[in-house]
Amino acid sequence: MTKSNVSRSSRAKAGGKAALEPCACCGISPDPRGRPFSITFEQPDVISQIEPELLDTWGGDPFLAIKNVGFFVRVILPVKLSDGFAIDFGTWLEVYNEDFRQAWQTWNFPEYKDLEIEGYVANEIEPFDRFPHELVKATVRLPEHVPYLTSSEDETFTRLLGDTWPHAKVLSHYADLLKSEPPIEG
Ligand SMILES: [Zn+2]
Repeated sequence: MTKSNVSRSSRAKAGGKAALEPCACCGISPDPRGRPFSITFEQPDVISQIEPELLDTWGGDPFLAIKNVGFFVRVILPVKLSDGFAIDFGTWLEVYNEDFRQAWQTWNFPEYKDLEIEGYVANEIEPFDRFPHELVKATVRLPEHVPYLTSSEDETFTRLLGDTWPHAKVLSHYADLLKSEPPIEG
């Protein structure tokens, strides 16, 4: 995985001087309004493994189809962290064609709230070990947000979604994106 695939983008207003003191252990301040951090993977990892001249895509973000590879929908992987921290990873779910079409068709309609799709997480996300190739379900929490990964029959994903993780272990991988003090000189 290259770090260039990762950003702090989120649709919400972020940044600004922290209202809370940086954590003594990791130097990262919690979000001023208590929201989860957002770290976004710009594209499925598989894209970096395809020769550019062979890459044939339809769509972009949040709906991406890659010819001869598969169908991908933008989702959020929410992870609970210790000491009041939390992080939402913007990632991609590789889904079946039928789920892709259903998501695309309902995305901007009232039926979106009942959308359920299932697929495979398409990014490796540090510091977690490479994810097993197991189905994870995504459902809608808020109509204005992309679907959230919510459950899986797989034990690794059940722990990932249910446990509270030591915050420094997770956030230290993204510290360069999360430390908010601007430099003194440009
Ligand atoms: Zn800390």
